[in-house]
Amino acid sequence: MPDSELLIKLQNFRKDLHKYPELSGHEKETQKRIIDFLKVLNPDKIIKNIGGYGLAYIFDSGNSGPDVLFRADMDALPINETNNIEHKSQKPGVAHLCGHDGHIAVISGLTHLIDKKRPNKGRAIILFQPEEENGQGAAKIIKDKKFTQINPDYAFAFHNLPGYEKNTVFIKNGAFSSASTGVIIKLKGLSSHAAYPENGNSPDICLAELILEFNNIKNQDIFKDFVLLTVIHAKLGEIAFGTSPGEADIMLTIRSYLNDDMDKLKKAVNSVLETVCKKHKIKYNIDYTEYFPASTNDDYCVSLVRDAAEKSNIPILALEHAFRWSEDFGHFTINNKSAIFGIGSGKEHPQLHNENFDFPDEITETAITVFFEIYKKTLI
Ligand SMILES: [Zn+2]
Ligand SMILES: [Zn+2]
Repeated sequence: MPDSELLIKLQNFRKDLHKYPELSGHEKETQKRIIDFLKVLNPDKIIKNIGGYGLAYIFDSGNSGPDVLFRADMDALPINETNNIEHKSQKPGVAHLCGHDGHIAVISGLTHLIDKKRPNKGRAIILFQPEEENGQGAAKIIKDKKFTQINPDYAFAFHNLPGYEKNTVFIKNGAFSSASTGVIIKLKGLSSHAAYPENGNSPDICLAELILEFNNIKNQDIFKDFVLLTVIHAKLGEIAFGTSPGEADIMLTIRSYLNDDMDKLKKAVNSVLETVCKKHKIKYNIDYTEYFPASTNDDYCVSLVRDAAEKSNIPILALEHAFRWSEDFGHFTINNKSAIFGIGSGKEHPQLHNENFDFPDEITETAITVFFEIYKKTLI
């Protein structure tokens, strides 16, 4: 358990991070602040700049045993904070509104505890991961050659959960959060004078039909579990009253609890696109962006989270359904036995990405306690 002195330090550290947020891929100062906060510790190895501004601290027992990784995400969001608090973001238009400042503080607190009670077997790996919000950070870390030095047997992470009972641990076997991907579609017809639209080929009806048909996909009887398709943007032609448009854009976000269903969803989008565009003789181009695989929890890793909470008398609840949102921790869950869990931020707490969100420091102790119990169970 972290003592009150450490908790106060962590709270101040968290508020500092909150004041100076950085967007995905720009976590340079955040990295510096973490290094500075942890400089009093004696890890066996520090790996800098893994997958961008990522950081790994390794505590090596020198004995055989599992490699266990604990991960925090580092980035903030391009949203203007409206909180009236002392530690309000000093950067207009950028703010820690997902609580990654708190996640850093928790994992830094854990690192302090591990430094005092070093592993007896295997290795503890502390990972600070950049670029979670755009879905690129975890994938970049896994692709980085340095990852071979930390490729773990087990990986753990948590997310704070507004709308859920404060300081309760929420677990889920299997899918914890959804797979999702952005879809960018460009339509190409032929522009013409607005007085003679018949001389061109406007993609207007094609666009309208696509929006309707895309919305129908989720009702197809081919999916094993929940899928969702949201049209997030559409644009037709330009604001030029003399012109019948020749181009249109449409963007979607598609989600599914299961990675298998994501493949089916993509195929269904492609098939609708091909059919409707063919009908209207419109050319098209389709691209995907910001792909997040589902975070699929391993049963043994979930049992370690459950045991850790139970041992510490922390209330624990099993979630009935996966979350509709995505977490790029999903990339780790593909090849490494992993578990991501939630800790309630309070039922009335502002939601993630709300402009008035601020990480609840009251859950820091709970989070560190759960991680430290998992650490002790696997590496002591
Ligand atoms: Zn977020
Ligand atoms: Zn987040």
